[in-house]
Amino acid sequence: MEFKDKYLKCAVCGREFLWDAGEQSWYHLNGLQNEPRRCKDCRNEHRRPPKKQDSDALSIEN
Ligand SMILES: [Zn+2]
Repeated sequence: MEFKDKYLKCAVCGREFLWDAGEQSWYHLNGLQNEPRRCKDCRNEHRRPPKKQDSDALSIEN
């Protein structure tokens, strides 16, 4: 299978980003059927662990 560099539109920031042949090959090798929907920047944003909202647990009454 041959891969060509391809431009996709990011679903988060709306910018076009390059999905290069190497990455497409990686997706293919890993059995991923879907094209990436987010650019690298946005994917990195989402890699941060979500903040836990446990402020309720801290409301201790004395
Ligand atoms: Zn983006």
